[in-house]
Amino acid sequence: MHEWALAEAIVWGVAEYVRGIGGSAAGKVVVSLGELQAIDREVLEFALKELISEVPIKIRGIELISEEARFKCRSCGYVWRLKEVSLSDEIREAIHFVPEVVHTFLKCPKCGSRDYEVVSGRGVKIISVEVVRDE
Ligand SMILES: [Zn+2]
Repeated sequence: MHEWALAEAIVWGVAEYVRGIGGSAAGKVVVSLGELQAIDREVLEFALKELISEVPIKIRGIELISEEARFKCRSCGYVWRLKEVSLSDEIREAIHFVPEVVHTFLKCPKCGSRDYEVVSGRGVKIISVEVVRDE
């Protein structure tokens, strides 16, 4: 994931949303970063600070939070977190770099099935936007 492209998508996404509903500025914006996504948080924060001034509305602040990766087994219904499984650093890194490979390396810790869904921890989402009107 390219942090600069991501930052651009976030600030423009927020700006368009705020204007679309008749707001004039954004207060606090909360963005979640999935655990399975390889994002350099410092680079992203820097990029956001730089790009925030390029959009036509004022965005007061963007808070980044992490979304934990969770999986749900389709065979037995067990739900587990990435933290719970022991993986080598190489595999952990591979998963962060290409989240799609997760099924190659992980199986349900309870029944061993590889048929499970990724419940959370993927992608980057704008969770909330505080919209400021008439300013
Ligand atoms: Zn299972």
